[in-house]
Amino acid sequence: MQDWVEFAAVKRAVSLEAVLRHYQVPGLRRQRSQLEGGCPIHRGKRDDSFRASLSKNVFHCFACQARGNVLDFVAAMEKCSLREAALRLQEWFGIPEPMAGRVAGPRPAPASIGKVELVREKEGCNPPLPFALTGVDPAHPYLWHRGIDRATAIAFGLGFYTGPGLMSGRIVIPIRNERGEIVAYAGRALDGQLPKYKLPAGFRKALELFNLHRAAATDRKTVIVVEGYFDCLRIHQAGLPWVAALMGSSLSAEQENALLQRFHRVVLMLDGDAAGRAASRAIAARLSGRCSLAVVQVPDGAQPDQLSLTAIQELLGELEMR
Ligand SMILES: [Zn+2]
Repeated sequence: MQDWVEFAAVKRAVSLEAVLRHYQVPGLRRQRSQLEGGCPIHRGKRDDSFRASLSKNVFHCFACQARGNVLDFVAAMEKCSLREAALRLQEWFGIPEPMAGRVAGPRPAPASIGKVELVREKEGCNPPLPFALTGVDPAHPYLWHRGIDRATAIAFGLGFYTGPGLMSGRIVIPIRNERGEIVAYAGRALDGQLPKYKLPAGFRKALELFNLHRAAATDRKTVIVVEGYFDCLRIHQAGLPWVAALMGSSLSAEQENALLQRFHRVVLMLDGDAAGRAASRAIAARLSGRCSLAVVQVPDGAQPDQLSLTAIQELLGELEMR
C-alpha cells in the first residue's frame, strides 16, 4: 500500500532545528533565532553561506541557492522527493500517519496522488555524512577509564565533543561504512544519562558493522565479532585489529552477508551474560556450515572490553588467526 502523507502536518510537527540536529550538522552558530554556518547541502568551503531561521523554520544558502522548509531541506540532503522526505520525517520523528478516511483530512483523489513523482534514493545504504566533527578530545578521562589509550582514540577518531548538535557533551564514535566513509556518529553518554548511546534519526545500524573497513584491510581470513564499540576498541588495542562490532547482539542479514563476503572464519566473542550467550548460539546456528566458526567463552558476567589486554590475547590466542 502506498503511504499517505500530509505535508502540512509534518511541517508543523518537526522543527528545522530538530532536523539539523539529527543530521548532526556541526559548526552552526546561533544568533538570536537564526543559525549560520557552512552549508551541509553543497558542502562548500565557506562557513557562512547557510542561514536557518528557527522562528520561521526556513533555510537559505547564498552559495548553492538551496532554500525552503524542513521538507526541502531533507529532500536536498537525501536527494529524494518531497514526498519521500515527508515520509522519512514521519518515520524518524515518530509522527503518526494520518488515518485514511479521517473527517478532518479527506484523501485526495487517486489521480492527484498519481501525479506525485517519486524519486527514490537507492535503498540499502546509509549515506556518508557531509562533514566530520572537529575539536574532539581524544584524551578525555572517560576513555582512559574505559581502558582506551590515546593512540587508539586518535586512530578511531573518538573523543569528547563539546560542539553543537545532538552529540554535544558526549563521547563521539565515528561509524564508517565498508569504504571507510563516516556514516554516523554514535554519542556515548557520560554520567549515566539516557539514552546511553545516541544515533542520528534515520541511521540504519543493521546495515553497518563497526570497524569492518579496518578488519577487512588486514587481509586476514578471520574476523572476530563482538557486540559493542568498546569491545572492538579493546581487542584492536590488544593487537588484534581484525575485529568488528555488531553494535548490538543481533546479526542482520546485511551484516551476515558483509562478513561472509570478506572472511572465511568468524570468531564470535559476545558478552558473558545470558543475553550474550543466547545471541552467540543464535548467530552460530545461522553461520554454521556457511563459514568456519569459533565461539569464545567470555567469563561469566564479563564483557570483552572489561578483560585485561593479556586476558583478551589469551582467550583469542588459542585460536589460529590467519
Ligand atoms: Zn549550499
